[in-house]
Amino acid sequence: MFWTLIKILLFVAIVLGLAYGAGQVMDSDQTVGLRIFDMEFVLGPIQAIIGLVLALVALWVILKLIGLVIAVLRFMTGDETAIRRFFMRNREKRGLDALLSALIAQAEGDGKTAIAKAEKAHKLLNRPVMTNLLVAQAAEMKGNRELAEDRYKALLSDNRSRFVAVQGLIRAKLDQGDKEKARALATKALDMQPAHEATQNTLLSLQTELEDWSGARKTLLNKKSSGHLPRDVWRRRDAVLALQESDRLAATGELDRAREAAIEANRLSPDLVAAAVAAAQALVAQGKGSYAAKVIKKAWKVQPHPELAAAYAAIEKDETPLKRQARFQKLLRIQPEADESKLLGAELLIAVEDFPAARRALGDLYERKPTVRALTIMAAIERGEGADDSVVRGWLARALTAPRGPQWVCAKCQHVHTSWEAICDNCGAFDTLEWRDPPDSTGPSATQTELLPLIVGSLSKPADPEVVDAADTTVETAPTPSESVAENEKKLS
Ligand SMILES: [Zn+2]
Repeated sequence: MFWTLIKILLFVAIVLGLAYGAGQVMDSDQTVGLRIFDMEFVLGPIQAIIGLVLALVALWVILKLIGLVIAVLRFMTGDETAIRRFFMRNREKRGLDALLSALIAQAEGDGKTAIAKAEKAHKLLNRPVMTNLLVAQAAEMKGNRELAEDRYKALLSDNRSRFVAVQGLIRAKLDQGDKEKARALATKALDMQPAHEATQNTLLSLQTELEDWSGARKTLLNKKSSGHLPRDVWRRRDAVLALQESDRLAATGELDRAREAAIEANRLSPDLVAAAVAAAQALVAQGKGSYAAKVIKKAWKVQPHPELAAAYAAIEKDETPLKRQARFQKLLRIQPEADESKLLGAELLIAVEDFPAARRALGDLYERKPTVRALTIMAAIERGEGADDSVVRGWLARALTAPRGPQWVCAKCQHVHTSWEAICDNCGAFDTLEWRDPPDSTGPSATQTELLPLIVGSLSKPADPEVVDAADTTVETAPTPSESVAENEKKLS
């Protein structure tokens, strides 16, 4: 605003100055004497000014004529484009000026001016790759999709700009939400430059979104080969993708191939719980129970997990609780101090009705980590040892408000999942689920059930049959270690 005012004032001052100067010259009676060869002229003030302007024009024309003569001479000595260049020079200069203005506007973020100037440069300069690229980028910045797409398509015809054109078209397709086309274009782009990391990432995320697992595995391998992914990370992610492929194959009824993919996933990443479970199931289906046990034990060594225990139980379908308890010793021995081992050990002993041993197996877990599962186990032990119903109900009531223990939690958004997924349901991140305590699973509940132990602890009438049933279920059947807890929870809620 201030600067504009200054400019206006300056302009007015110059006009006034010129007018004043012209007046002074007119008023003075001075003349200019000019002698050319033998002729002598005497010019008045106005004539002198006009003469000066004419002389400047004449000088410009002479310079141009000299340029033309030089161009003709060059043409005659073999430079074929010399004359055309002479006439194009002015046009080129204006084109370059427009180009510069477009670049500056682009850098300033002024999309509208950038497009206008780039279009002007496009008309003046015979450099379609350069000017089309500039128009496309300016249009993209301005959000003018059609123009951008149109110019990127024009850039496809030149070898030098084909890759950048495909990149632009991928962005345009993503913008329109056309993921299938974007994936096809990204595949094409990667064929041109296999080591281009940004394209690898774009393609990979498109492939996982579209559940093209075999394609995603190829891209992942490509990333590893071009040095953009450490070997161990590649193995883990490839395992996750192989597992997803196995799920997809199973869903379409291709069971043999699904099993092979699951076993491969486990081979790539033996400590991936979901892969170990899937591989064990596949091996059991192929009649290789002992291999399945080996797979589970290997994963258990890294992370004891209830899903592994369930898969281990499923290796022998029709065994008695006593036999099962004995067979599980091989698994429990691997990580005897882990919480999961203690919980599982206690559950197996409850199933064979050895309650004192179950209490020993659980140890102080109900105090140290009073989760739903630990407290439900305590209720079952008390019930089995013939404790008063009010005691049993006290444990179960405490279980109602207890933390649920470790869950599948997304490391990125903290969303809790009921089962392991390769892609977070909530934020869509890939392979971010961790088995750990959810961030906020304790604290007062909305229903104030914290008071329940006090209330039910003082009750003397016979226990609610449903609650006793819940304890009985654990005692008598205990289908698989993790199921028993899930069932109790269901009944309690
Ligand atoms: Zn998430």
